[in-house]
Amino acid sequence: MLTGKTALVTGSTSGIGLGIAKALAAQGANIVLNGFGDVDGPKAEVAALGVKVAYHGADMSKPADIEDMMKFAAAEFGQVDILVNNAGIQHGAKIEDFPVEKWDAILAINLSSAFHATRLALPAMQAANGGKGWGRIINVASVHGLVASAQKSAYVAAKHGVIGLTKVTALENATTGVTCNAICPGWVLTPLVQKQVDARAAAGGVSIETATQQLLGEKEPSMQFTTPEELGALAVFLCSPAGNNVRGVAWNMDGGWTAQ
Ligand code: NAD
Repeated sequence: MLTGKTALVTGSTSGIGLGIAKALAAQGANIVLNGFGDVDGPKAEVAALGVKVAYHGADMSKPADIEDMMKFAAAEFGQVDILVNNAGIQHGAKIEDFPVEKWDAILAINLSSAFHATRLALPAMQAANGGKGWGRIINVASVHGLVASAQKSAYVAAKHGVIGLTKVTALENATTGVTCNAICPGWVLTPLVQKQVDARAAAGGVSIETATQQLLGEKEPSMQFTTPEELGALAVFLCSPAGNNVRGVAWNMDGGWTAQ
């Protein structure tokens, strides 16, 4: 379905980003990976799906790096048809104790990076398909783009901002073939959340299993984690012809978290 298209997924060396990259690759899209840590493993996992894969190590907190990554992707594959703004970090602390440098980093990586990648991807998407435009921008927001939790001021502010940016991007391109939507996961058991489970276990003097049940029980009525594979399938739907008129939505996959 996506053969001949190119998808750039930020923060795709791990977790949700890698899950979405693999789901798009399984539909035939060539992939540009980004993120820190092990690169060879994720590259091999995507390449095994029979598509071309490239990697750029842009630090998503740096606009100049993002510009370089977008130029690299265009040079490598012609253009970026699908942009998944996924890179993100987390830090928990009360507002009065929140380290200022953590606030700045979370806003830069979780929100401003999506603005920069989007502004740089849009011109080619708008010009595609003989000027009628074709493109898909998928912003990985969170339930924390819709509701709040204590101790997550920067994260919640950034994710609410991502949903606002999603709506504006969708509206400005509403008469074109370029759509923009947000995905809002509840808990997904990735390294980002494992750190929160481990911290909870250490703070409460309980086992990892108990801390996991407590974490889910507080917020997620299904008592199940959403998986990167499920989120990948949602991204594939948004890229399909059936997603043509889905514009500016914030789509939860949260086990009922925000239904309460
Ligand atoms: P993760 O820690 O597994 O992956 C984060 C990715 O971002 C990694 O590839 C990492 O290398 C990359 N990254 C971090 N800082 C970066 C930077 N400065 N520049 C480039 N890449 C950087 O986390 P995840 O859980 O897969 O999170 C992915 C996205 O999903 C984030 O935006 C997160 O807020 C969102 N999310 C996660 C959950 C969850 O429960 N895990 C829930 C809702 C939303």
